[in-house]
Parts: sequence; structure tokens; C-alpha cells
Amino acid sequence: MTVKPFCRKCLIDSLDEDEFIRSLKNYISDYPKDKRCCELEYKKRIEVCKSCEHLSMGMCSLCGCYVELRALKINTFCPDITDKWNE
Ligand code: SF4
Repeated sequence: MTVKPFCRKCLIDSLDEDEFIRSLKNYISDYPKDKRCCELEYKKRIEVCKSCEHLSMGMCSLCGCYVELRALKINTFCPDITDKWNE
């Protein structure tokens, strides 16, 4: 099987869904270690997102980010006015 290289300039509309999800997961797993928060903090953030009313299809409806990517980054925050990650 020939695997088409992921086009970073393509819109979601032109991507195969499996290919898009796979490339997103690869992007998350390859994200630089020096820019990641610690595993404990990441898990805590994800647990908060999982019970949040703004989570929809893996995305935060307030900021439009994929929460598994947003929560991974050191210098980021929950966009809710109360910052649910730090309540
Ligand atoms: S509002 Fe905060 S807790 Fe809720 S999904 Fe977005 S990032 Fe996660």
C-alpha cells in the first residue's frame, strides 16, 4: 500500500479522515519533550477536559484546539474564564 505524505497546507475538507487522525496522533506523540508539561499535569488536564461541557469530538469549543494537543504544552491554559485546569 502506498502511503500518501501528509500535506500540512491542506484543509481538513481535502484530507482522508483516517489519515488526518493518524497525523494528529503522530504530531502529538512527536511533540518535543522540552515543550511538554509533565505527565501528571497532562493527565490531570485531560481528566478535566473529559468532564467539561465544552469538549466536543476531541476539541474545545471555546478555543477550537484539540485538547490532547493543547493540554500537552507547558505554557498553555484552559480558555474557560475560570481556567478549569487550575480550579
Ligand atoms: S474549556 Fe478547558 S476544560 Fe473545557 S474542554 Fe476547553 S480546555 Fe478543556
